[in-house]
Amino acid sequence: MFIEPNNNGHRGWIEVVCGSMFSGKTEELIRRLKRAKIANLSVGIFKPEIDVRYDVEKIVTHNENMVTAFPVRNAEEIMKIAEEFNVIGIDEAQFFDDKIVQVCETLANSGKRVIVAGLDMDYTGKPFGPIPQLLSVANYVTKLHAVCMKCGGIASYSYRISKNTNQVVLGEKELYEARCRHCFRY
Ligand code: ZN
Repeated sequence: MFIEPNNNGHRGWIEVVCGSMFSGKTEELIRRLKRAKIANLSVGIFKPEIDVRYDVEKIVTHNENMVTAFPVRNAEEIMKIAEEFNVIGIDEAQFFDDKIVQVCETLANSGKRVIVAGLDMDYTGKPFGPIPQLLSVANYVTKLHAVCMKCGGIASYSYRISKNTNQVVLGEKELYEARCRHCFRY
């Protein structure tokens, strides 16, 4: 369980929460943001506009927690809105381009706590978008695991049930299964 660091009172760092689909990334992001709110910090949550599976005004986790979010078209838009917040949450970060890395660095260097959640691998098991670079520059990394929907083991992969080969195909339980390394390959 991630506990907020004290860092001798020096503020500003990057946390990354990664893992496969159904691993609870958004729930973990929201747990951390709720704790920041309890600490009377102002919290802003951003997500790429591409993710319109749910209400565009809210991040809705799979267990129906709701937090208001700002849909943004690109990473630079986050910079424009983020100024007023102490803590910046970014969900579905794999859908941003590489500029998200510099945006997170700039925000952290200016004293903000940045919490990034995203898929570390795409449906083929390859690193997804800017997540590898974000993992490198992060000060704290949490890799979450799902439960393999074939064997009940520990799952790290998002297995796509359909034959569509686009990297981005939005969907949930009807399109993807969490799988362990063995069941992902066979
Ligand atoms: Zn398995």
